Amino acid sequence: MKFNPEKYKIDDEPLKPFIDIDEIETCLNENKEDKGRIREVIGKSLEKNRLSLQETAALLHAHSPDVIEEIKQGAASLKNKVYGNRIVLFAPLYIGNKCSNNCVYCGFRASNKNAERKTLSDHEIIQEVEALEENGQKRLILVFGEHAQYNPEFIAHTVRLVYKIKKGTGEIRRVNINAAPLDIEGFKTVKEAGIGTYQVFQETYHPEAYKTYHLRGKKADFNYRLTSLDRAQEAGLDDVGIGALFGLYDWKFEVLGLVRHTNHLEACYNVGPHTISFPRIKDASMLGMGSKYFVSDDDFAKMVAIIRLAVPYTGMILTAREPKELRNEIIQYGVSQIDGGTKLELGSYARETSLNEEQNLNRGQFRINDSRSLNEIIDELLDHDMLPSFCTACYRLGRTGEHFMEFSVPGFIKRYCTPNAILTLAEYLLDYAPEKTKEKGWRVIEKNITALNDDKTAIKIREKLELMKSGTRDLYF
Ligand code: SAM
Ligand code: SF4
Repeated sequence: MKFNPEKYKIDDEPLKPFIDIDEIETCLNENKEDKGRIREVIGKSLEKNRLSLQETAALLHAHSPDVIEEIKQGAASLKNKVYGNRIVLFAPLYIGNKCSNNCVYCGFRASNKNAERKTLSDHEIIQEVEALEENGQKRLILVFGEHAQYNPEFIAHTVRLVYKIKKGTGEIRRVNINAAPLDIEGFKTVKEAGIGTYQVFQETYHPEAYKTYHLRGKKADFNYRLTSLDRAQEAGLDDVGIGALFGLYDWKFEVLGLVRHTNHLEACYNVGPHTISFPRIKDASMLGMGSKYFVSDDDFAKMVAIIRLAVPYTGMILTAREPKELRNEIIQYGVSQIDGGTKLELGSYARETSLNEEQNLNRGQFRINDSRSLNEIIDELLDHDMLPSFCTACYRLGRTGEHFMEFSVPGFIKRYCTPNAILTLAEYLLDYAPEKTKEKGWRVIEKNITALNDDKTAIKIREKLELMKSGTRDLYF
């Protein structure tokens, strides 16, 4: 079935391409820092209201250090209100890097003859997933190039296979996807396999800039990509992730593009994206990119805080593309999910390889800058009094999409998110953690149970913890 804009009507108007360059540029052109207005906007966001394009632009105009600090503090405080101190952990699993597109920034692009092409066999997928489970991972994102071989049936097959693989007490309980946009039938096929979130990054929301980076292949069609998650909704797949690749165009334009995309999904389907990703371009095999739109670390931190304030209820993902120090800092401004123990080279979770840097680069999509193991990341989160979580309860209980939005209200975290984070952390401590992590982890668990300040919930959590200590697994609220 082909996407038909006539079907998506707001007030009987057919959907126009929802990115309007003039609208975004008008917001950006004002470019005047107005402290009073910025404080007002931060206040609105702290009441957990999503911001308009104009309000987000007011934050983007901030340039004085004290005002930027207020934005960051506002974001940190909002994050605490909406998410508490939880951080959800996951790992990417690259299934295949064949690609018929030629995205200038990507190591997998068709014209890169240095890339070693590979698609994992079922046997290799089993080995990879077993290795990930042995580390304690519970949530994966499967990543694919765009290639005829990686059709919806193939993607669905890999998802079903991953769910079946159990190593010891290990299992993968949520499989997300990052792959090419599909048509409506394709989205239905992958939904039936039980996926969590389907991510499609627009890369850049500026149509003219988009053309210069996507010279051939299906990805050259800006509008087909822009409307991909509308087709997902049409297919009944309401758990979607959006993103922009920072470094392709003016970062402020991209932030407004992400906010506009969010508003669009909310207006049309009553549910915004589950997650927003904001990767910055990293070194890749044969990377041929200029640095005109490079985003500095300072701007990156400010941007994360602004996105947090603009969309209070959307999950935000910060990946191992960024170095440890920057991740540790930026997490506090609003990030809700990070990857840990990440390896991008195909087949590398199961096999220790002794490749040199260049060989590694030719096997992966780009270079990561945080190669800490999952346990090292958990250790540091615990040191910072954060609560690592492998929770998958909402998705398994059908609390997604519109329903998930309804539940994301005060009280929900207390009743579900914190207890489930505690239970999944306890599972990790019991099954995978070294002694040192165990000690810290149980201390953090105790502290979080006390902080709930709710005797009934505390009793229920403790009952489940006892069951877990005597061998029961996969308990959740
Ligand atoms: N091939 C599918 C597609 O293009 O939609 C799947 C996505 S690709 C494997 C995952 C994402 O990685 C891309 O959407 C892009 O935003 C990001 N990416 C590509 N090259 C990158 C680089 N050099 N540095 C950082 N991120 C990059
Ligand atoms: Fe292929 Fe995706 Fe890389 Fe583009 S970003 S070259 S579509 S894998």
